[in-house]
Order: sequence, then structure tokens, then C-alpha cells
Amino acid sequence: MSLVSSPSTVTATPLLGASLDELTNWVQEQGQPRYRGKQLYEWIYDKGAKSLEEITVFSKQWRETLQETPIGRSQIHYRSVASDKTVKYLLKLADGQIVETVGIPSSDRLTVCVSSQIGCPMACDFCATGKGGFQRNLAAHEIVDQVLTVQEDFKRRVSHIVFMGMGEPLLNTDNVLKALKCVNQDVGIGQRSMTVSTVGIPGKILKLAKHKLQVTLAVSLHAPNDKLRQQLIPSADRYPISDLLSECKEYVNQTGRRVTFEYVLLDRVNDYAQQAFELASLLRGFQSHVNLIPYNPIADADYQRPSPQRVKAFADTLRDRNITASIRYSRGLEADAACGQLRANQPGEVIRRDGESESKNANPVESINPSSVKLAQNTKPSKPKLRTNSLPE
Ligand code: SF4
Repeated sequence: MSLVSSPSTVTATPLLGASLDELTNWVQEQGQPRYRGKQLYEWIYDKGAKSLEEITVFSKQWRETLQETPIGRSQIHYRSVASDKTVKYLLKLADGQIVETVGIPSSDRLTVCVSSQIGCPMACDFCATGKGGFQRNLAAHEIVDQVLTVQEDFKRRVSHIVFMGMGEPLLNTDNVLKALKCVNQDVGIGQRSMTVSTVGIPGKILKLAKHKLQVTLAVSLHAPNDKLRQQLIPSADRYPISDLLSECKEYVNQTGRRVTFEYVLLDRVNDYAQQAFELASLLRGFQSHVNLIPYNPIADADYQRPSPQRVKAFADTLRDRNITASIRYSRGLEADAACGQLRANQPGEVIRRDGESESKNANPVESINPSSVKLAQNTKPSKPKLRTNSLPE
């Protein structure tokens, strides 16, 4: 059976991520009748079975022969809840690695911010994940698992998915595409409710465009010119903004979907009026939307969040030039679950925003009452700003 890819340390192929047809073929390969495939599918995607042992409609005798076949679900290793009810999870994978995912509820939607890699090699200067280095790509089932875990924990359907957790999705395109397909067809979330976020990898947006998906492409721009962008995103030195925008235009042509540009606002680094003019001129005539994200502080970066006045002024400058723009304050700040704050902590360790670590080894995280979990507090000491630009106001 060739269902989904697995990390090299896991030998048996997990069943999660497989379609109904693939599972039906698999049960038949095991000498079982076809209808067992439908049962298996329902137990994996609707009932949230974590192991084949739980699937009591299967005979005990058959289940005993399948003990080495994993479904591919993770364990919740740690869970923290912010006052806005955003929940950050550290999920323990089969090889012991930890990945982070975030559930963001509102009255009419439940959004999961999923990770595509453990850590991230892109090393963006303002990002906690980038500071933590890179471990490995996630397999497709490890991405799907994040969605099911949040759905089960919240006891309500996930409505939206954003690939804005740990990692650069387009460095793991094949597994991300498999996961998108599974989440769409097997978990039942519409493509238009999914967003893939990227800083841009040469050629990969074109590759994504060829699949003609209806997902939203969110491109992390963060600067209106190459010089500043390369300071914030070191890997951008191999991918000038002109090339990036040309691939984005092709994405719009191929899919008919507008592109969203993400712009993290860093106080007195990229939030000057002159930079708003530059950004407006860069995007003039482009079928796009700009999301302005006031920076979420992390312990080991010297950037600051701009004042609400500066944020509004930047947005107004864009809108005055007919660039549609929204201001997005990230949720989950207290739980370090906000945009740019996810980090591959070691198992049993939670990095607080003041840079200290809290050992959780003494308490198995699965047994912690969420309401009693001590949340990371906004204790970031003020540091002198090191990376401000000296543009005129
Ligand atoms: S912002 Fe995204 S691409 Fe950049 S280091 Fe962080 S996770 Fe990676």
C-alpha cells in the first residue's frame, strides 16, 4: 500500500491521509471484505480513532494482526489557552518530535493554524520559529492530524485552515498538497476556506498554480523593496520581489483567485509613510489584498510593535491609493500562539516570552487541566531597538 509519506524514523505506513478508495484497497489486501474500508474510513475521520485496537467493529483476531499498523495520530503533549480562547497545542509525533498547532475559535468559525515543518529553515529575522532552526518536513498525515486534533478538542467542526504555523509550506509542497486534498475530501473543509502562506520559493508558486486549487495564496512580503526584504527574510536574496510578483500574477491567471500579501508591521523598520507609498506603487493594478499584521513580540528579536496610530496611518495610506488593506491583530498572544511566535520547544519544555523555560517534564501534559495551565505572561523586558531605519516620518 502506498498511502502517504512518513518520516524516515517511522517504518509502517500510517493510515491517516488515505482516501476511501485507498483504505478499501488496503482492507481487501488484508483479506477483508470491501465494506470494512468504509468502516475504517469513518472511524479514522469521523470518530477520531487513534489506533486500530479501538475499532471494535473489527474482529479482535484481525485487530491483533494489525498491531504494527499505526493510524498516525499524535498525542497532545501540552496545551495552553489564552484569554480569547485561542488554544496552542504542542503535539508529540511518532518519532518524539514536537510540532505546534493553534486553534482559533470565534462565534461562527473555528480556524486551525497548521504547521508544515518542524522548525523552519527560512530564518526570518523577526520570527520565533525561524530562530529555532529546522528539524524536518512533516508528512501529510502529520498535517491532517493537526486539524483532527483541534476539531476533537474543541468538539466542533473546523471551518478554516491557514498554513501559517511552523515552517515554509512550499518547501514541503508534495506533502502539503496531499494534506490539502485529504482535508478537503476526507475531513470536509472547502478549498476556499484554506490559506497557504509562503515567503516565496522560486518556482513553487507556479507549481502550486498548476494544480488550479481554490485555496487562498498568502505571500509574506513584509517590505516594499528588495533591500529591506532581504534584511528581514535572508532567503529573499535569491528571489527578488519582481520575480515573486510575476509568479503571483501567474497564480491569479491560473486560479482566478486574488493573492493576499502579508505585511508584518515592525515599528520604525517597515512602517513609515514612504514605505506605504512604495508598497502601494508596487501593488498598483494587482488583484490582491494586503493584510497588515502588527508585530507580535518574541524574546530573542529586537523588533517592536508599532503604535495603533502608526498602524492606522500605514493602512490609510494604502487605502488612499486604492490598495485594499486590513489590519489583523493576531489572537493568542498570551499563549505565545500568535503569528510568528510558534517555536519548536523541546518535549516537556515551554519557552516563555521572557526567554525563560518552564520544565513540564514532571507533569504529563495530557493530564493538565487546561484551566490550570500557567500561561506565558507578557513579561518581555523592554530592550533598546537595534534595527530601526531612519526614514522620514
Ligand atoms: S516567518 Fe514563516 S517562513 Fe519565516 S522563519 Fe517564520 S515560519 Fe519560517
